Amino acid sequence: MEHFEALIVGAGPAGSFAAELLAREGVKVALFDGRPEGEPKACGGAVTAKALKAWPHLLNAVGRTVDELEMYSPSGKRLHLQLEEPFAIYSRIAFDSYLRDRARTAGAEVFAAKISGRGIKRTQNGWTLREVAGASVPAGMAPQPRSCTPRALPARGPRAAGAEWTGQMLVGADGTGSSVARMLAGPLPPSEMEVAFGYRAPLPKSRESPTVIAFLPGWIGYAWAFPRLDHISFGIATTQEAFEHQPLDKLLWDFMLGYYRQREDPKARLWASRKVDRQRDERIREKLATTAERYAARIPGLNDKTWDTRHVCGEGWALLGDAAGFADPVTGEGIYYALRSAELFAESFLVETPLDYEERWREDFGRDLKRASQMRRRFYGNFWGAPFTERMIEFARGHRGIKRVLGDLVAGEQGYVDLKKKLARSALRPV
Ligand SMILES: Cc1cc2nc3c(=O)[nH]c(=O)nc-3n(C[C@H](O)[C@H](O)[C@H](O)COP(=O)(O)OP(=O)(O)OC[C@H]3O[C@@H](n4cnc5c(N)ncnc54)[C@H](O)[C@@H]3O)c2cc1C
Repeated sequence: MEHFEALIVGAGPAGSFAAELLAREGVKVALFDGRPEGEPKACGGAVTAKALKAWPHLLNAVGRTVDELEMYSPSGKRLHLQLEEPFAIYSRIAFDSYLRDRARTAGAEVFAAKISGRGIKRTQNGWTLREVAGASVPAGMAPQPRSCTPRALPARGPRAAGAEWTGQMLVGADGTGSSVARMLAGPLPPSEMEVAFGYRAPLPKSRESPTVIAFLPGWIGYAWAFPRLDHISFGIATTQEAFEHQPLDKLLWDFMLGYYRQREDPKARLWASRKVDRQRDERIREKLATTAERYAARIPGLNDKTWDTRHVCGEGWALLGDAAGFADPVTGEGIYYALRSAELFAESFLVETPLDYEERWREDFGRDLKRASQMRRRFYGNFWGAPFTERMIEFARGHRGIKRVLGDLVAGEQGYVDLKKKLARSALRPV
């Protein structure tokens, strides 16, 4: 059995980037993922300007950049944002494959294997991992002849049940439902999860397919329309507490209808029009019913106290990205934190102080995520007699300074720690 220096479970952005950074420095890395071929990770796929600046190579992945955004307040007021710094939207199949290929090229061995939670065992020399019995090898994860030995990964088709790997360091980058995290840091309660669901739907026929974020009328959370190269990802993100499937699904259908309606009639309103053309709406709805593919998943949304008590590394193990709970509890954005945690972990590991990772992530982005947890209620709560999100859009429509702060928030450049101060300062400056 081959022995690795690092066993990384999960080849999403966090796992693949960590694998690349370690392998590039000569660490013997095994990277595992058990996602079936063609099944994308449920995700809006938006990657902030801050992330693109930190890792410009991300722009080489197939996707599109966006420099304009339409935002809607809960009552339907529209704000057009011309972004100083564009963000990117990727299909997760394209994004994840790109990062995984980079890891492979850097020298990591990539295994198409779902690791069994019960098959993770600590040994005297580190860890043993066992594959979930009967898992087959998805074609998209097919081995590159250079890096995979035939014994480690048969070319295609079912592998012998119960393949095993050993290694010194175990890295859990296996997403929200992480088995590694459950075993080593304890499970996260459902109340510390956000819920996101949506539909992948066809691009409208009109040439214009704007990127839209709309705060929900009467609900915590927001809806999005993120056009990609060959389809649009629509979705809603909300808290587990606020989640009710039927009314939120209806709200998302209203949002999607409004989106297509506006492509045919620029004067139409997003949520509802007084003059609804019922025939047109029915036609759009019927088309969507036969083409839209549903998806749903959870995003970590830690409570503020949990940030102080939860540890994401220990002797011989570390957690990255969603597995560590690293997502913005207000927006659900997690790709930046997945990549940044991978980088901070890799840097600590490479100078042989892997336990420093804990202090480094706290210093780097931990404070801001904790602040975001504290902000969550207020962000979706009331402010001067209306939802804060209503006021924010309203003020930004009439004030360039506030609009700029909002643009920076979207770009990922404006943290929550000094958000209130920045907004107040901008509001006091002349328009
Ligand atoms: C609907 C939705 C929309 C979102 N939109 C955005 C957005 O627009 N922008 C943004 O920044 N964030 C968004 N997020 C959050 C973002 O998707 C995550 O934060 C990000 O993917 C985390 O990356 P990761 O590498 O930690 O985990 P993941 O991307 O979840 O990757 C984990 C990998 O581990 C694999 N895995 C899991 N278990 C095992 C196992 N036992 N064995 C082997 N492999 C395993 C999985 O197959 C997966 O490929 C969204 C989330 C959801 C649910």
